[in-house]
Amino acid sequence: KKITIAIDGFSSTGKSTVAKQLAKALGYVYVDSGAMYRAVTLFAMQHQMISKDHFDVKRLVSALDTLKITFKYNDTLGFAEVYLNGINVENDIRTLEVSQSVSQVAEISEVRRMLVLQQQRMGEEKGVVMDGRDIGTVVFPDAELKVFMIASAETRAKRRHNELLERNEKVSFDDVLKNVESRDMIDSSRKDSPLLKAENAIEIDNSNLSLTTQFEKLYALAQN
Ligand code: C5P
Repeated sequence: KKITIAIDGFSSTGKSTVAKQLAKALGYVYVDSGAMYRAVTLFAMQHQMISKDHFDVKRLVSALDTLKITFKYNDTLGFAEVYLNGINVENDIRTLEVSQSVSQVAEISEVRRMLVLQQQRMGEEKGVVMDGRDIGTVVFPDAELKVFMIASAETRAKRRHNELLERNEKVSFDDVLKNVESRDMIDSSRKDSPLLKAENAIEIDNSNLSLTTQFEKLYALAQN
């Protein structure tokens, strides 16, 4: 019987990597909820609603109904890429610039309401692995399996830094560490759906776990 799997945790805990693998092995759909918050942020940046020293929340909120986020499975990559108003933005949403504004965008209740509804619709049929910050607490409180991933800030910043370097973004480790820590702070302290471990979530600290071990743990949990 297919179930719903919610994977939450702090920034760059490697949720999406293991969630993708798990979904593939189970024949489930994988949904990256963070990609949706990132797409809204990219939209706001493209329309000059966000810059270094200003953020026009009102204008973003009133433009939300002109914004369409969709996913399309890419056979070669083996996962669904995110589209903003019909344009593939899978790469553009991963920059440090987007990361530096996304948590502010994710604080806006109207944004959360819109995305949570869409996420719930995507999970109406069982057989979904979704990762994010509020999946086990808000999006799918009845998920059969909830996982909360943690890892030291150093470990996480190192992982994210390597990812950005691989994508040829020249950023310093310190800037990445600062960003990871500041997102954790904003995500944990926001009023609407703060990042917290669901009561019945299983905590996994993967600071010293290989990807294979993480996958095997989750795969075993999904069988029970
Ligand atoms: O998962 P990822 O790091 O791509 O998420 C980017 C940001 O989107 C998070 O730092 C958080 O601010 C926001 N987010 C959220 N709720 C989710 C997923 C992501 O608030 N379910």
